[in-house]
Amino acid sequence: MQFSFQYVKATGLFIAGIAVILYGLYAFFSMPTSMNDSIFVMIAGLVVAAIGSIHGHKTLRNPAFKKMLEEERKRREKEKEERKKRRLERKKKKSEANDGKDDKGVVKVIICPFCGEENKYSAVFCDECGKRLRPKK
Ligand SMILES: [Zn+2]
Repeated sequence: MQFSFQYVKATGLFIAGIAVILYGLYAFFSMPTSMNDSIFVMIAGLVVAAIGSIHGHKTLRNPAFKKMLEEERKRREKEKEERKKRRLERKKKKSEANDGKDDKGVVKVIICPFCGEENKYSAVFCDECGKRLRPKK
């Protein structure tokens, strides 16, 4: 977290520098009498922006910062993977809950050839007489 703070600080410095330059430009055009002052302000802004960008580059080049970014990327990838897994599991559960129903919700049954009892479509043995409903695989 320390590194991302550094980066934010650097970006802030850079933006502040740009703002100072813009202020200098504004002063330059709106107050021609203080031309020297506004040029000085612009130079000061340039320096602040330069410091900000150097800081930012240093932070980016820092191996610990790179490592942090890499870890963040890995974490995000892992989360994506887990979401995918959960989605698959939900799908599987749903299809289990729909056991014996086709996608229109029609309940499919299997009739026992021995006693005529209606059994769940996925049943292998008859609930009533216990005989095998499907041939052995
Ligand atoms: Zn039966």
